[in-house]
Amino acid sequence: MKKFKVTVLPGDGIGPEIISQAVEVMKLVGEKHGCGFEITEELLGGCAIDATGVPLPEKTLNTCRQSDAVLLGAVGGEKWDKLPGHLRPEAGLLGIRSGLGLFANLRPAVIYPALKNASPLRPDIVKDGIDIMVVRELTGGIYFGERGRKETQDRGQAAYDTELYTEAEVERIARLAFEAALKRKKKLTSVDKANVLESSRLWREVVVRVAKDYPDVELNHMYVDNAAMQLVRRPEQFDVVVTTNMFGDILSDEASMITGSIGMLPSASLGSGTLGLYEPIHGSAPDIAGQDRANPIATILSVAMMFRYSFGMEEAALDIEKAVNSVLEKGHRTADIAAPGENYVGTREMGRLIREEIERGN
Ligand code: NAD
Repeated sequence: MKKFKVTVLPGDGIGPEIISQAVEVMKLVGEKHGCGFEITEELLGGCAIDATGVPLPEKTLNTCRQSDAVLLGAVGGEKWDKLPGHLRPEAGLLGIRSGLGLFANLRPAVIYPALKNASPLRPDIVKDGIDIMVVRELTGGIYFGERGRKETQDRGQAAYDTELYTEAEVERIARLAFEAALKRKKKLTSVDKANVLESSRLWREVVVRVAKDYPDVELNHMYVDNAAMQLVRRPEQFDVVVTTNMFGDILSDEASMITGSIGMLPSASLGSGTLGLYEPIHGSAPDIAGQDRANPIATILSVAMMFRYSFGMEEAALDIEKAVNSVLEKGHRTADIAAPGENYVGTREMGRLIREEIERGN
């Protein structure tokens, strides 16, 4: 039986509660599809600071490096907010992504038909649901380019940040996005600002070149300002969107918002191999931690992405996604996605309901 090494990083706040539900789902689906797991739990974030003085201990990074996949809850909380930047829980997140060489962030934004009233968009725009995957370049561009300040003669200080991409950086993220599109509806939108930026013109040239290797994927290009508009105007036109670090930062948040439910959205960070880091997009929600109120679905759907992208087990991924859909269709909700006055269940019960659906094979 194939055995995958998975490092689990529960983190802080609601992290441990949602992770324990997700791990149970992972074990059950593994059993059903003939694979097992060697699970190691490590510290990251505030709990790591309390135990070792740093947000990302060497031991955590080493264990993650030797894994097939990493499952992360969330980190952070008020207790650690006054520490200097490099010692805060969030520094652990940046450290682990760069330490594992993860250069692509995949964020699906899905509106399930059962939850379409949660979207801030009008029902005639949402229609029968939305299913977009934003692929964001994670380690290049303006967030990592040269920056600085200088004095001008008569206009005070000047400050600059540089957007810089190499052909190699664009090529690897483009390939990853084309591959993701092949696993979906085979449509890729590359978002840039090629009417103004030289870095975007190089981006577009490289994407067009890579497209020759993917004749089955329909490629189009969109300027970022138009993409921001089209996401709320006609979201159903998008399948996979690939873009730079900064444009992706903004557009992936916009795409998340139109789904209306932060507790539902998973993410994957990938590199050139199959090792990936899987985590919900939300934070550690200290306001509801320890109350069995957190929605575990984003983390459970992150496990589905793990099966798809790190283990190459599409059927197992679909099993989880279908089970989540069935549970929602049957009207079960956690507090964050319940309509006013509607009944809701806790974290553990939602996890149990999803496992029950998986067992039933729905
Ligand atoms: P948050 O995402 O933790 O919470 C925002 C709101 O959404 C809160 O009202 C919270 O209760 C709710 N919420 C979030 N996830 C939920 C879930 N699964 N189920 C039900 N409700 C949920 O964002 P925040 O309050 O801005 O940040 C809290 C802490 O998390 C901070 O320390 C922040 O730095 C950290 N954070 C961590 C990550 C991460 O680990 N990737 C991401 C964002 C924020």
